[in-house]
Amino acid sequence: MTRIWKKRFPAVPEIRGSDPRLRNESIIEVETAAYPESGTGEKHPTFMDHFIEVLLPIPLARNFTYSIPEEQFGMLRKGMRVAVPFGKSKLYTGLVVELDTDPPTAYEAKEVYQILDEKPLVSALQLRFWKWMASYYMCTLGEVFRTAVPGIFLLESETQVMGDSDWVAEHGTPENPESPESLVLRALEHQKALAISEISSLVERKNALPLVNRMLKAGMIRVQEKLGDGYRPKQVRFLRLHPSFQEEAALEELLRTLSRAPKQTEVLLHLFQLQQGVNKPVKSTELEKQVGTSRSVIKALIDKDILEEYTLTQDRISYSGGEEAQKLAGLNPEQQVALDTIRGFFRESRPVLLYGVTASGKTEVYSHLISEALERGEQVLYLVPEIALTTQLVYRLQQLFTSRVAAFHSRQSQQERAEIWYHLQRAEEKASLILGARSALFLPFKNLGLIIIDEEHENSYKQFDPAPRYHARDAAILMATYWEAPVLLGSATPSVESYHNAKTGKFGLVTIRQRYGGILLPEMELINLADAYRKKQMSGHFSHRLRDAIIETLAQKRQVILFQNRRGFSPIVECMSCGHVPGCPNCDVSLTYHQQRRQLRCHYCGFNRPLETECQACGNTNLDTKGLGTEQVTAELAELFPETRASRMDLDTTRGKHAFSRIIEGFEAQEIQVLVGTQMVTKGLDFGNVGLVGIMNADTLLNYPHFRAHERCFQMLTQVAGRAGRKDYRGKVLIQTYNPYHQILKQVTTGDYEGMYKEQLYEREQFHYPPKVRLIKITLRHRDWNRVEEGAAWFARSLRVVFDKGVLGPEYPPVSRIRNQYHKQILVKIPKGQPLAKTKNSIKRIEKSFDAISNYRSIRLIYNVDYI
Ligand code: ADP
Ligand code: ZN
Repeated sequence: MTRIWKKRFPAVPEIRGSDPRLRNESIIEVETAAYPESGTGEKHPTFMDHFIEVLLPIPLARNFTYSIPEEQFGMLRKGMRVAVPFGKSKLYTGLVVELDTDPPTAYEAKEVYQILDEKPLVSALQLRFWKWMASYYMCTLGEVFRTAVPGIFLLESETQVMGDSDWVAEHGTPENPESPESLVLRALEHQKALAISEISSLVERKNALPLVNRMLKAGMIRVQEKLGDGYRPKQVRFLRLHPSFQEEAALEELLRTLSRAPKQTEVLLHLFQLQQGVNKPVKSTELEKQVGTSRSVIKALIDKDILEEYTLTQDRISYSGGEEAQKLAGLNPEQQVALDTIRGFFRESRPVLLYGVTASGKTEVYSHLISEALERGEQVLYLVPEIALTTQLVYRLQQLFTSRVAAFHSRQSQQERAEIWYHLQRAEEKASLILGARSALFLPFKNLGLIIIDEEHENSYKQFDPAPRYHARDAAILMATYWEAPVLLGSATPSVESYHNAKTGKFGLVTIRQRYGGILLPEMELINLADAYRKKQMSGHFSHRLRDAIIETLAQKRQVILFQNRRGFSPIVECMSCGHVPGCPNCDVSLTYHQQRRQLRCHYCGFNRPLETECQACGNTNLDTKGLGTEQVTAELAELFPETRASRMDLDTTRGKHAFSRIIEGFEAQEIQVLVGTQMVTKGLDFGNVGLVGIMNADTLLNYPHFRAHERCFQMLTQVAGRAGRKDYRGKVLIQTYNPYHQILKQVTTGDYEGMYKEQLYEREQFHYPPKVRLIKITLRHRDWNRVEEGAAWFARSLRVVFDKGVLGPEYPPVSRIRNQYHKQILVKIPKGQPLAKTKNSIKRIEKSFDAISNYRSIRLIYNVDYI
């Protein structure tokens, strides 16, 4: 019996990243040469095919129907993965979302290559959550699928696979040299990476996914990742000079005595070099590698008490501590009242906002609730806005909950993430408390009993790109209703929205006004920069007041945090003779100068070039830098305080997988005395010894053109100030500014959250912004400026017909060209009470007409629902 393998498939344009909106699914004819492989690799004598609906992790608005033979159909359940062919030659991992559907009418169904799971990977409840998300945030289910599931579960023909040398070292090559595993491993000895499609031809199988999955599970291979590099070591050893050589004289004396031991001297010099003059923690292995000698020389130095070795726990995900859990801290009366009130609201099934000043012990209160949930055998989701925070909190929570704690975030290796997925699915005690960044929301909980959303005001809870552009806080509150699980939001500076929800009774409101131990909130002082410059009381960007406070703080053996919300050396380079400012060729922004690399870099697209010595416009060599970035702060600091060990924490210094923990642990261990950072240092870190927080320049925060600028400024400054004096003494905060009389700064220094809230709410009411209305931002994007102009005007006109005054724009965003794409945006304001679903349908209808205009079809439309 022969089948006709001439099938009709939708032709799909090439898929590049997450980018294209795939339209025009015209039908063309494709020849498929071979009989598709099935689970057993055998042909099927029966034609009793069933049809199933499969969700693919691509931004298409609909699912696809595939056929599957009778005997395999019986094994299939919704939520299992299947390997399916797609387009001309692509292979995808898809998810079964419907069983036994009708055959498709527009195309002939292809056959499923293989079932990849024995039981569902994704539950019905998860799928329901995804569907809500796609509909609420106006994106496709495929986009949610891709975001929701660790990449390792979504292998496709283009996925790159690499060998794992550790595995080979441990196990040797597989016994049977003819086995497909051996073939792949041998190939990977000669080649760094193989695409799965290449593995297919290597082992002469149409579908190599099961093989790859098997090898992944066994740990033989790894999937290429941007950041991860497999499992990280648990303990890492670091080296430093013995403290007795801190003094310069002692060090000189030491080098003199070592002059007859050149190898040892060399080791020391290498160490200094690696410390980069700032006592950067240096790994023992790093030094060994750098020196290129055996460990014996280093060992000799350690034995002579010249070097000191210390270890830090690097991996806090795989738990390595004792089995003994610490007891929960007893709560003080105010904390106890808060806890009881929270429980009361939970009984009423209301989400609760815990508004507690910085260091009031919110984390301690959470811990009590977590402990109760875990005792009941439930799972807990603890969301934090920043990976840096998981580093610190995992450690703190492990003291209480030992191996039940697991972190989940994008810096972990794919393997680790997959493991956590399975742990949760099996509802094991291990990893029943998940501490994660926003993507942890998608984990396959089995019996979720509590959600905590720490620092709920943080805007990094909102995913910006790609779709789904969801807000993890809001989505978590929705998800909690499925589980009937209580939700606790915590912040020292609640978002105006959440506070409004609390004030209007939608959330329960609980406050803690005192810091734990009665420690006063830090003393705040504004420094008038205009004054200081006029009176010549400045050293670089440091006012003498700030400089002296640093000296004093360091003398008290306390640490300092300096905050400047810009990275790089300076955001603008300017020619002093013609005024030319070098800009990015791809984006409409000036290039930021990075001194360490002597480069000009674009912070939007990554473009960079070396800094030239003369102006590209007029040739003059008199170039000046304007504006202040963290790199310059660090450089000036090193000049003012050459003896001081400083480190920088910003996007540039935290790219590596362990970079965060290294800096945070270095600061905790007081290896680092001064920490210079961007907003990364503002978010909920708990250090015990910070005496002073300096804000280098508050003005960029004040002048940001956004309806939320003042709220954010208040939050950021209050939060960074909150890092000072958290344990047993009062800290100090110095804020440098040209606007010392600004209302917001007054509110920050007096801790007047209520005043800020009232004022902001009034303004939002006047000008129609959230929480008074809902916002949908529509961005149009195209390479051709004219087309964006016209398309945006058309779209806005059409929106106005329906929404009238509720439409703002089109407008250019502050940076209107990024990567050579022009952007224009329209804001749709939806009054409370106007049904959201209906509004979105109207917008979708307008999109349909828009797409019908051939000139506009290639314009990319991006919806951002609840734009913040
Ligand atoms: P928040 O989360 O509100 O910023 P934390 O929970 O981090 O505050 O508390 C600040 C510091 O005070 C932490 O170091 C914490 O260990 C300590 N602390 C707070 N409450 C207690 C308590 N009841 N018993 C012991 N220490 C506490
Ligand atoms: Zn650029």
